[in-house]
Parts: sequence; structure tokens; C-alpha cells
Amino acid sequence: MTKFVSKRARSIFLLPLLMAGGACAAENVGTSTQPLTIKNVQTWTENGNIVPVCWESPGFDREKAIVKAAVRATWERNSGISFSGWGDCPRSGTEKFVRVATSSQDDNNGGANGATYGLGMAVLKSAADGEGRLLPPRSMIMTFNADGSADQGRVEYIGVHEFGHVLGFVHEQDTPGNVEGPAHCASPGNEPDSRSLTTYDRDSVMNYCNKNGNMSGELTATDIAGVQAVYGVHTAKALGRVKLPPGTPAAAPLSICDAAKSARARNSPAAPGLERRCLASGGH
Ligand SMILES: [Zn+2]
Repeated sequence: MTKFVSKRARSIFLLPLLMAGGACAAENVGTSTQPLTIKNVQTWTENGNIVPVCWESPGFDREKAIVKAAVRATWERNSGISFSGWGDCPRSGTEKFVRVATSSQDDNNGGANGATYGLGMAVLKSAADGEGRLLPPRSMIMTFNADGSADQGRVEYIGVHEFGHVLGFVHEQDTPGNVEGPAHCASPGNEPDSRSLTTYDRDSVMNYCNKNGNMSGELTATDIAGVQAVYGVHTAKALGRVKLPPGTPAAAPLSICDAAKSARARNSPAAPGLERRCLASGGH
């Protein structure tokens, strides 16, 4: 089942591009590329590592929630990147987002598919970009089966893979480092103007022929090394803490007694309880 899906996934992957008309020209991404490899594009470091995302179309709440959770649990949790927003796209104005359209498909490929129109910050679109055009401006399209039963792993894969393109990464099978040669995964050849960040990774979420058959949104250790090479490591930014400079050693966890002292110094109501636990532990 998985292999079957995987093979079909390749041939069907480009379908949304065809349906999207003129907007599809940019996703040469869909047919080319390199180990976690980044295209020479504008990366999100130029936007403070913030990626603003919005949904262009209503519906598919289950699948949208799966995509958002998968992207957060992978690229965001394992690097300095933050994805913000995730609300409905504005219908007017020039504020730019990664605008994700959704539409229906059949049960092929686990009931889900996707395509991204471009790489890196070039995918950003505003409502104003769509003026005078038939279709609203799109950065990406995701398709899900209409009855809401798309395979969760497949939806996670689509989310993580497509947002990998948003981060600037190309298809792993097309990397210059593909030691398996272009015959592997029917690679059309090396992605031009791109830079390999890691050694070749046949199981990358960006490799069409990964071991999970494009049915799982997990990052490999190499994917994580690659994204960190561009966007740094995850910090406590999501909690609103001050971002530490790279190389800052992690603070050692406070002992219960140090925590008690600190709480006492802050006149915290937690101080008495912490002091009792400190004493109980034989501390001072
Ligand atoms: Zn792709």
C-alpha cells in the first residue's frame, strides 16, 4: 500500500500545478532539485526567521489542523524558524503571506497532495497581487479528499514537505550529492543554483523516494541538521524569552534549594513550599 501510494504520488504530484494555470510556472521545484539542499533564494533570515502563513480557502479544518501541528512539530521545533498567523487570508491589502489554498481531490495518494509555487521568500503573496486575475494569489495548494478521511500521515507529509519548499529546500533526489544517480527516483538531474547543506539523505522528507513512501511527516536527523544550518537552532522564542546568541551554553537546571532561594528573594508565594521540599531533600 505504501509503495503503491509512493509511486502514484510521483506521477500525480504535478497535477495541481496544471490546474493552477499561470501560477504554476515557479514550481519547477516540483520537478527538480538536491541532500538537504537549499536553492539560492531569499531565505527567511531576512524576515527575522518569521514565516507568516494564512489559509486562502475555507473548509478542511481537520486537515489544516494536522498540517499546522506537523509543521510546528518539525521545522519549527527543530530550528530557529517561527511560523505565524495560520488564520484566514486577508481579501485586500498588500500584506504578504504564504497563502495556502485548499481544494478537493479523490482518494488517491492517501487522499492528500500539494504543490508550492516557488521557494523561500519568493512564495509570499498579497491580496493585491491577485488584482485583475482570475484566481486569487496563491503560494501553495493543498488538496484533500472531500469526505475528510485523508490519511493523517499523508497529510502530515504534505505539510512538512511543502513547507520545506517554503523554507527554500529543493527535492533531495535532485541534489548534486545524490550518490544513487539520476536513475534513483527518476530524478531529472541536479538542481541548478543550489547549495547542499548536508550529505545525501535518501530518507529526507524532501526526497520523493524516502523510506516512508511519502506517508509520514517526520524529519530525519539530516533534515534537522540542514534546516539548522540555515535557520539556527530552536530557542525559547515561542515563550517570549530573550533569544540567546548562538553558542550560549544552556543554563543548568536549578536545584530545589536554589529554586527556593530564588523564590524567597522574589517574595514568591511558592517560596515556603519550595523551602520545605529543599529541607525534606536534606538540602539547605
Ligand atoms: Zn516537492
